[in-house]
Amino acid sequence: MDARIRKIVIVGGGTAGWMTAAALGKVLGRDYAEIVLVESDEIGIVGVGEATIPQIGIFNRLLDLDENEFVRRTKGSFKLGIQFVDWGRKGHRYFHPFGPFGVDMEGVSFHAYWLRLAQGGDPHPVTDYSLQSMAAAENRFMRSIDAGRSPLSNIAYAFHFDAGLYARFLRGRAEADGVVRREGKIVEVSRRPADGFIDAVVLESGERIDGELFIDCSGFRGLLIEQTLKAGYEDWTRWLPCDRAVAVPCESVEPLTPYTRSTARDAGWQWRIPLQHRIGNGYVYSSDHISDDEAAATLLANLDGAPLADPRFLRFVTGRRKQAWVKNVVAIGLSAGFIEPLESTSIHLIQSGIAKLLQMFPDREFPAADRDRFNRMTAREMEQVRDFIILHYNVSERDDTAFWRRCRDMDVPDTLKEKYRLFETTGRIFREDDELFNDTSWFAVMIGQGLKPKRYDPVADLLSREETTRRLHEIRRVMRTCADQMPGHADFIRKTCAA
Ligand SMILES: Cc1cc2nc3c(=O)[nH]c(=O)nc-3n(C[C@H](O)[C@H](O)[C@H](O)COP(=O)(O)OP(=O)(O)OC[C@H]3O[C@@H](n4cnc5c(N)ncnc54)[C@H](O)[C@@H]3O)c2cc1C
Repeated sequence: MDARIRKIVIVGGGTAGWMTAAALGKVLGRDYAEIVLVESDEIGIVGVGEATIPQIGIFNRLLDLDENEFVRRTKGSFKLGIQFVDWGRKGHRYFHPFGPFGVDMEGVSFHAYWLRLAQGGDPHPVTDYSLQSMAAAENRFMRSIDAGRSPLSNIAYAFHFDAGLYARFLRGRAEADGVVRREGKIVEVSRRPADGFIDAVVLESGERIDGELFIDCSGFRGLLIEQTLKAGYEDWTRWLPCDRAVAVPCESVEPLTPYTRSTARDAGWQWRIPLQHRIGNGYVYSSDHISDDEAAATLLANLDGAPLADPRFLRFVTGRRKQAWVKNVVAIGLSAGFIEPLESTSIHLIQSGIAKLLQMFPDREFPAADRDRFNRMTAREMEQVRDFIILHYNVSERDDTAFWRRCRDMDVPDTLKEKYRLFETTGRIFREDDELFNDTSWFAVMIGQGLKPKRYDPVADLLSREETTRRLHEIRRVMRTCADQMPGHADFIRKTCAA
């Protein structure tokens, strides 16, 4: 019997909805199933998710995007990592780069050698061994070139883009692949009496849109997954206490920085995302520790250029949907949960949700085994990202406000405690399975936030101290030479992808 799904309904036209529509349109094609996307102009989109991580390149390749066109159309810029200001302690800054520190040698991770020298008094910061960190410090950027074993052959980067333009850009792609858009507010959800599966959504106009598979991209409200199917929500506020944000764009200033900046504030942190036509800014804060008015005043007092709009407030609860897939509804995007934007992971989690859905794409029988695996993988992935974000708040010398003292004193998840224990003894980091953040990321943030291993990994003694010093000196020299060859970020954009 042919059990193939023939009608897919995507509820929501934010970043999640249009990414899902573009991907399904491209992969399944117009003959496999009819794909309809419903969005409401009246409700609108969150629209502040504008920084990404390098994995988005995989999504772009799936869609066969011309990267220059993509950056031009979204008035985007390039991102080599995140600069953290005032996080470990006031007045201190560090960089979390995309791409590795140095090179592993004799099967031993680079950071073990670096730690050995640093503990012996060597003054060179670990960022001297990262091409991205060096380039970012001088506002340089270029894409990889064919240069043999040189670091220039493999420059990891991501993008900043205008979220509204990104949704519009993807809409064009999805519609070209046959996705049909319906505008209107869903006021009723219809379910099959026999098994509670959703069989249609009804718009304010009375139009009924039938479907067999529903993808809930309706944002925080979780119109289908929560309001209708009551999947439940695991609240992570005890670890990730920020629950609000206020956002405001401002005029661009020079130089055009190739990184996101995150500045710790009294009750949270402020983002700065440079685009070609404006800078996106926002203060993510804990409403237990600061009022909306104070947060907005802090944000407006800390802009690089004149504000271009009134401050916009957003509310959220950090956590995850207990089940992202229930019956014939799969939640993707904010409807599946929200960790908070500190490491720009939400858009990646959308992409990862789409990839898992395609891997476990159901037929009309909706096999429970696929659904369960999807839910287990989604939960694990989000928990791993959650631990990485908690690290930033929890490991800090800051105790100057009630917010920072609360973060320092919280009881973190056991999975994170284990990472701390391993690192604090010999600086070892183990990447769990295929967790999103690799040892470079964990190392950059652990060291950056001020976590200090007592000793170094004993296998770093494989090379003599002199040989280690010689090789590290050579790596620094190569990184410097490579960084010197990179053009300015603004120049690169002007020549390749200016809006
Ligand atoms: C403060 C903040 C900063 C962020 N920064 C980043 C970042 O830098 N990087 C990153 O990766 N992510 C970031 N994110 C997350 C990112 O914004 C979201 O993951 C992304 O925008 C996806 O949102 P969405 O599409 O799930 O929801 P939304 O944008 O809320 O879209 C929901 C859609 O559902 C539709 N809808 C809802 N109800 C109905 C209804 N009844 N009828 C019809 N349509 C309906 C709406 O019209 C809309 O089209 C940030 C989030 C916040 C809150």
